[in-house]
Amino acid sequence: MHMAETKPAAGAAPRVVKCPSCGAGVEWIPENRHRPFCSARCKGNDLGAWATEKYRVAATEEPHPEDQSE
Ligand SMILES: [Zn+2]
Repeated sequence: MHMAETKPAAGAAPRVVKCPSCGAGVEWIPENRHRPFCSARCKGNDLGAWATEKYRVAATEEPHPEDQSE
């Protein structure tokens, strides 16, 4: 009885992630300094959005009851 198993060689190809900004495929390699982003532009865009979100202040108007005592 002879069983021949053929397994594909895995581990050679770099992991590919999606750019959070534009959704493009990005190779997860040390050479890619902008990962998980595809480029510096996408990285900057995301940071910009972050800053915008950070500076957004939710205006909460609290009704103050009037105290009138005579
Ligand atoms: Zn991108």
